[in-house]
Amino acid sequence: MSTIVIMSEILNFNNTEFAFSTKSNVELKKAKFLFGILRYGPLTKLGKPILELAFNMRLPVQGLLRQTIFSQFCGGENLLDCKSEIDKLYAKGKVMSILDYSVEGIESETSFDNTLDTLLKVCQFSESQEQIPFLVFKPTGIGRLDIFRKISEDAALSISESEEWGRIRKRFETICEAVSKTDSLKIMVDAEESWSHIAVDRLTEEMMIKYNKSRTVVFTTVQLYLDHKLNYLKTLKGLGDKNHVKVGVKLVRGAYMEKERNRALRMGYKSPVCQDKATTDKNFNDGLDYVLENLDFFDLFLGTHNEFSCEQLVHKLTAHNITSTDDRVWFGQLFGMSDNISFNLAKAGYNVVKYVPFGPIKDVLPYLIRRAEENSSVGSQSSREIELIKSELLRRKELSIKANT
Ligand SMILES: Cc1cc2nc3c(=O)[nH]c(=O)nc-3n(C[C@H](O)[C@H](O)[C@H](O)COP(=O)(O)OP(=O)(O)OC[C@H]3O[C@@H](n4cnc5c(N)ncnc54)[C@H](O)[C@@H]3O)c2cc1C
Repeated sequence: MSTIVIMSEILNFNNTEFAFSTKSNVELKKAKFLFGILRYGPLTKLGKPILELAFNMRLPVQGLLRQTIFSQFCGGENLLDCKSEIDKLYAKGKVMSILDYSVEGIESETSFDNTLDTLLKVCQFSESQEQIPFLVFKPTGIGRLDIFRKISEDAALSISESEEWGRIRKRFETICEAVSKTDSLKIMVDAEESWSHIAVDRLTEEMMIKYNKSRTVVFTTVQLYLDHKLNYLKTLKGLGDKNHVKVGVKLVRGAYMEKERNRALRMGYKSPVCQDKATTDKNFNDGLDYVLENLDFFDLFLGTHNEFSCEQLVHKLTAHNITSTDDRVWFGQLFGMSDNISFNLAKAGYNVVKYVPFGPIKDVLPYLIRRAEENSSVGSQSSREIELIKSELLRRKELSIKANT
């Protein structure tokens, strides 16, 4: 039962009335249907190649996607489309937003430059919106994964690769600098495949040293399904301490487990991912404890859909006498998922932000496929969403019967 009492306030993740206050009955029924499909893994696996083929053959599937999976998990195709969604989240529940340009997997210099342009526009737009505290980007949105790998492995670069790396560094710095010049925006660097991490971490650390002097501008992401990341948190604390900067850190479990394990198997090294879910959970909890014990050095963003983890953080904040509105602590979920967590945490006064993905439908397809896979592979996630939606539909039905009698 997901109900806990905090200083006379009730945090109840089963409060569906509040969780779905932005959704009409029609929208809820559509979401229930969609999660019902996603719950069946084989259907999701089958859907992926069919969709890719349909796009390659230029079949008119965009309309269908827009009405279904896209509208569930994305805010829109552009900033203007997203505006009504983020306004709704804030007006109805004080849930804030991070606009996430979710074009993935296009490896060309033009696309990397376009991503930077878009990020700069998002920065300008977000600056004027009180409900948007962060920007976010994926390193592979501004540079090739293989260059990050080569730098991480200290491999020799050709002249053109060195120039390419120079352009990646420039893009990375341009966006961090732009955010640092705003009054209060912060920027989150997402984490991806572990073989890109050394290069990404070095760059992110450089940016933190440069821009986190007077406030926490740059946040790195630590995936705690990786054995060694607990130690990395200690390295980050040392970095903050030595350079007199605050370290922004987003803690997540990690989204690339299959890819990590497959690569390790193929290349014959030990997978860096924890051996099982229980070990990941322990690493995640230990990481969270470490950050909380050192909140003089860290700002924390907890990115999770796990209700127990969110409850744990609430308990721990209470135990540490940290108020719900303390701006060093943030909770985050993805748009279209776990509204029961986001809305009820925000109702209890916590800082809650939704990643709101956007981009042209065709280009966010890889993101949508990952969402579909996550909702079928995590098993209980789709079932939990369906359970909550059913309960809310029933509550509304009973209410209207009562009103009519
Ligand atoms: C706001 C937000 C931002 C995010 N940003 C990132 C990001 O930048 N990079 C990133 O990689 N992910 C990111 N994620 C995704 C995140 O890493 C998880 O994949 C996702 O949230 C599911 O984990 P959970 O904590 O929500 O739920 P849970 O259901 O408790 O955990 C599922 C996770 O546990 C781990 N796991 C599951 N089975 C096993 C197993 N057999 N062995 C070992 N570990 C296992 C995996 O990490 C899996 O994703 C983000 C999530 C959110 C909500």
